[in-house]
Amino acid sequence: MKNRMILQSFEWYLSNDGTFWKRVEGAAPSFSSIGFTSVWLPPAFKGAGGINDVGYGVYDLYDLGEFDQKGTIRTKYGTKDEYLRAVKAVEDNGVRVLADIVFNQKMGADETEEVQAVEDAGNNRNEQISGDETITAWTKFTFPGRKGKYDPFIWDHTCFDGTDWDEKGHRNSIYRFDGKNWDCDVSTENGNYDYLMGCDLDFQEPKVVEELKKWGRWYLDLTGADGVRLDALKHIRFTFFEEWLKDMRAYTGRDLFAIGEYWNPDVNALTHYLDVNHNCLSLFDAALHFRFYNASNSGGYFDMRTLYDSTLVQVREDNAITFVDNHDTEPQQALQSFIPAWFKPIAYALILESAHGIPCVFYGDLFGIRQENIAPVKDLARLMAARTLAAYGSETDYFDHEDVVGFTRSGSTENPDSGVAVLVSDGPGGCRHMMVNEAMKGKQFINILDENLSVCINEDGSGDFTVNGGSAAVYVEAHMLDEIKKMAAAFEQGTQPYFPW
Ligand code: CA
Repeated sequence: MKNRMILQSFEWYLSNDGTFWKRVEGAAPSFSSIGFTSVWLPPAFKGAGGINDVGYGVYDLYDLGEFDQKGTIRTKYGTKDEYLRAVKAVEDNGVRVLADIVFNQKMGADETEEVQAVEDAGNNRNEQISGDETITAWTKFTFPGRKGKYDPFIWDHTCFDGTDWDEKGHRNSIYRFDGKNWDCDVSTENGNYDYLMGCDLDFQEPKVVEELKKWGRWYLDLTGADGVRLDALKHIRFTFFEEWLKDMRAYTGRDLFAIGEYWNPDVNALTHYLDVNHNCLSLFDAALHFRFYNASNSGGYFDMRTLYDSTLVQVREDNAITFVDNHDTEPQQALQSFIPAWFKPIAYALILESAHGIPCVFYGDLFGIRQENIAPVKDLARLMAARTLAAYGSETDYFDHEDVVGFTRSGSTENPDSGVAVLVSDGPGGCRHMMVNEAMKGKQFINILDENLSVCINEDGSGDFTVNGGSAAVYVEAHMLDEIKKMAAAFEQGTQPYFPW
């Protein structure tokens, strides 16, 4: 069976020129040929920020770049028709689309309402810090540009638990509406982390839950998307998405591969969410991201034996999506924790060649982040091609040295000449004796990241592999190296016109 591999197809600072969906359509065959099995597309609906909205400031879920709202018909990424063509192009190439679903908040209301509310403390939302007051809240969404097409539902303050702006008093605070309580099974950060921003949807309100199901059926029918990426899970009633996914899967008859964003470095928070949801989805391994982040900022003194300690991929690999960075962790963003350039090949070699978890490659690492002048990670396409062509068979780990650690894959008979040996070091380089597979005896293995390094496999199937200081080495069989280079070069050539550096 082919290895699974996900592409996060966007970063925060992409141009707002409206050409993105067309670029995805053009690059779709290349996404498929390098071995991506899923492509995560950015939120497609109209945001409060119009063409400048990355997609998380949701205004109208039913406006996928079709109506003149927020100063524009198209979104940052293009029009509805262009979006549907991009989705179809990806899926016609045998790759699933992961649609980004953003339910926690709505922004950019059309009208204000006078609402009775109280204020809760920012750092402890269980603590009320004001008496009852009347605020002027931006909570009424009538969507005048859409005029009820597809759905007449009007959102008002009864759909929300609270907001953070009183227009009359020109005051910013956390306002909780009269008769509303923050959803109780959410993250306990700040006491209760139901409220994040904008108008916070009340997931205990039946008409809200029904409306989100109705929208989901419409959206999945229209787009044909076969997967979802769910935003901001820790701010939404924990039991909501199990119910929503069950409804969507029953309605569409599709598997609907689902990945959730639960942003917490504590693996216990992640496993708790999975338990509550009976493992009906996977989660991004934020715990592993922060292990990478700590290791990369320890000046070579991180104990690499502990790299996978308390990570989701270690304790719940079937539900773990491994990744290095994303649109929130990049410089100047909300969850900034960007992995420095020297460590990127190490992190990607580890997640891409491993048998554990499903890796997700970030656009900003693959194609660069122009605004921040961050270049693409060198030879990332080779590491991806190595996953698709060579990273098969059982995994043997060598995580027993404080600097130099690695693993091997034994290869599989369905993939001739497959098998890899991965060695990384955060400090001085070194050499490790590692077992690949007896069937490989006498074969030459070459490091795809530095072809000057090669190893002849011993009679017993082992080899003495070397890695330079502060870097990664990924050894593959010599003929396989040629295949990997060909596949990587074709990918770079195929995507360059659409995502130039
Ligand atoms: Ca919430």
